[in-house]
Amino acid sequence: MEKSKIIKAGKITSDVKAWIKPKVKKNVPLIEIAELIEKKIFDLGGTPAFPVNLSINEYAAHYTPSHDDETLAHGLLKVDFGVEVDGWIADNSFSVDLEDLKINKELIKASEEALKNAEKILSVNSTFREIGSIIEETIHKYGFNPVANLSGHSMEQYDLHAGITVPNIDNNSENNFEEGLYAIEPFATNGRGIVHDGKKGNIFILKKDKNTRLPLGREILEFIKDNYGYLPFASRWIIKEFGARALLALHQLENEGILHQYPILTEEKGKIVSQAENTFLIESDKVTNTSK
Ligand code: MN
Ligand code: MN
Repeated sequence: MEKSKIIKAGKITSDVKAWIKPKVKKNVPLIEIAELIEKKIFDLGGTPAFPVNLSINEYAAHYTPSHDDETLAHGLLKVDFGVEVDGWIADNSFSVDLEDLKINKELIKASEEALKNAEKILSVNSTFREIGSIIEETIHKYGFNPVANLSGHSMEQYDLHAGITVPNIDNNSENNFEEGLYAIEPFATNGRGIVHDGKKGNIFILKKDKNTRLPLGREILEFIKDNYGYLPFASRWIIKEFGARALLALHQLENEGILHQYPILTEEKGKIVSQAENTFLIESDKVTNTSK
């Protein structure tokens, strides 16, 4: 692990967060928010680790604006973005109530407090169920449910979801954290606590690098490998490079099983979801919230 790069990615994330928060207002086009964040990350010396996720109300995660998106910010908006420095990632998210609604504010408080309480007890000796339990209890105290089938995750260099899951409920796991880099991300909802795969959300990832017939598809695939590797990317990033004709090629690559497009994780009954997330570097003797 390269600690200085982990800390740098986290610092850029915190700075971008502080800078963008006052600009996230009702009726600002989502594409404007996404592009402001992505540009600021580059300006500060980082690279977006994945497209800015801007998920509204029942969309819990995995929506990024398309190249011609007209959606305006509204509802309970989750702003989830990540920064990588030489592949070392900081992943974070915050939620904003754009409607001045009590339910939204309470949902946001619930996920934020759950994250804070998890941080308080987090150490290399914590078990996964201890963290899951405190998240679950905190959210229940507000009268809401954690989203049981969404979770935090370990991270490795150039690997956003490196295999270990950090639960948002008591999952009975007595295994403990090991030294490493972890995202913890409680989601709170006034629904039952289950999300389903919804419509596609304009976020792609390289799934299987193999031959493709179309010349444009080949060119795009090379670009993806050079620039994103196995980290997620947005269709609008490809269109910026190759023009709108790239959209068809992207879908062709998706149909050929070379690319995967993420579905929007959507609350099953259309209930509202909030999220809070930070990245933690766990060492034998201390825990650092890198993206605070
Ligand atoms: Mn995230
Ligand atoms: Mn995450």
